[in-house]
Amino acid sequence: MASIFRTIADLWSLVVGLGITGREFCKPGVTVHYPRAEVTPEAAASFRGPIELIGLDREPSKPKCIACMLCVSACPSNCISVTRAPTPKPTPEELKAMAEAEARGEKPKKPAPPKAPGTWIYDFSLCSLCGSCVEACPVDSIGFSHDIYMVGTKREDFVFDQLARLARKAAARKPEPKPAAKAAPEAATAPAAPVAAPSEPGTATPASEA
Ligand code: SF4
Ligand code: SF4
Repeated sequence: MASIFRTIADLWSLVVGLGITGREFCKPGVTVHYPRAEVTPEAAASFRGPIELIGLDREPSKPKCIACMLCVSACPSNCISVTRAPTPKPTPEELKAMAEAEARGEKPKKPAPPKAPGTWIYDFSLCSLCGSCVEACPVDSIGFSHDIYMVGTKREDFVFDQLARLARKAAARKPEPKPAAKAAPEAATAPAAPVAAPSEPGTATPASEA
């Protein structure tokens, strides 16, 4: 008798499983049959690809990075290496002021090092895409790219100079169409304001970046 109940219970679990399979089978697919179907930019937007630097709003080819090294410390895989930009040489005026300060017995004020990276290297072959660097960055200078077509034939292909990559991305970006000039009389007298380039954090990188 017990074996009959167990058989009925087993059959019922089979029916339940088949019911779930049947329901899911009838739902529209959420995956793309690549390469037969092209991945849309909307679908690629949810893809977490290799990290990339985010440029300044006013100068997209320059990163927001202030070379604080927090991402280097936060990365558990040691795949980020950043160096500070070198301190600029003092101008003749600054040299003169420093010499005068020294002559007066004061401590000369030297040029401060710029808060910018000199190099920013990222080894994607070591990256686990954990996001610790993105969370650690205090100026939101790191984001995940959405490049789904990245390919390479050797490990070195995935070691990125992120500064160069950002500059290439900014250069490849199409310029915004200029708005049509309005014939407002007060606009003619207003001083011309610089047009800031739009910031696109996390926008897709070209497939050719690899
Ligand atoms: S996503 Fe994680 S593993 Fe990859 S670079 Fe950032 S901190 Fe390192
Ligand atoms: S990317 Fe962000 S966390 Fe990394 S060095 Fe630059 S400012 Fe610091």
